[in-house]
Amino acid sequence: DEVICRLDDSIIEKKFRRDKIDKLLTEAVQNDGFEMVYQPIYSTEQGRFRSAEALVRMKNTGDLGFISPEEFIPIAEEKGLIMDIGDITLRRTLTDKLEYIEVNLSGIQACAPELEGRLTKILAEYDIPPAFINLEITETAALDSGEAFDTNVSALRESGFSFSMDDFGTGYSNLSQMNQMRYDLVKMDKSIIWDAFGKGNETSERLLASVIRLLKAINVKIVAEGVETKEMTDYLTERGVDYLQGYYFSKPVNEDKFLEVISA
Ligand code: C2E
Ligand code: CA
Ligand code: CA
Repeated sequence: DEVICRLDDSIIEKKFRRDKIDKLLTEAVQNDGFEMVYQPIYSTEQGRFRSAEALVRMKNTGDLGFISPEEFIPIAEEKGLIMDIGDITLRRTLTDKLEYIEVNLSGIQACAPELEGRLTKILAEYDIPPAFINLEITETAALDSGEAFDTNVSALRESGFSFSMDDFGTGYSNLSQMNQMRYDLVKMDKSIIWDAFGKGNETSERLLASVIRLLKAINVKIVAEGVETKEMTDYLTERGVDYLQGYYFSKPVNEDKFLEVISA
């Protein structure tokens, strides 16, 4: 009985938190309540930062403390706010003085028939060519979606956008799908990297080495995420991983700090 009670409490608490986040998101959409941080991406070949990933943050989180986009993006999707948030965050990103940027698309955005129109309209407003933007789509979003997604990808490619497969290794890693999509980049999920550097995990290390070989064999550029140590950096560089992203190089930072980091 006590167990049932406790379960109920935690469900109610979760619902309460979701409702609060929902309210904060609705306010944020109306009152410029989002900001972007940027995490530099290092080119192992050029030995310098080549690009960056734009990551969204909520300015006001009420009494909830830090709320990760991992938590609020799914709520925004469910509440029908994601398309507006996508527009707002893209506008903010374009206002910042960057050269080239990786932008995340959620599953719902990736399948929305109006996606191409919305993106190209905003870029035109800022007079920025689509080649400036690389769109990141998670492996699971790409696999779950059907024709609407394929249509979007073709149209966006036609307009000059490029694509990364995000979180590679967490879904089903369907290689034939990957082949059809012709991704410009594949981002290996941080879990594959971290597992391989965990204690005594020889199988995970061999898995990582094989994944790298496999991706190189089909000629896609590879990004490793979650690179936290020199050991990881050296290992991945030696095996020919093209780009590295992670706390070892820099945490996601605001525009000013970002410009400082890349010019250092
Ligand atoms: P993601 O696309 O896989 O982004 C990478 C996440 O890993 C970021 O978390 C980043 O801060 C974190 N990270 C990078 N390097 C390291 C590292 O070395 N160590 C550790 N511990 N973490 C590292 P963040 O910013 O909390 O974003 C979480 C997820 O939320 C993103 O995962 C992405 O799926 C989603 N997201 C973030 N911004 C946006 C956005 O503007 N639009 C959409 N649709 N989704 C977004
Ligand atoms: Ca991403
Ligand atoms: Ca990821």
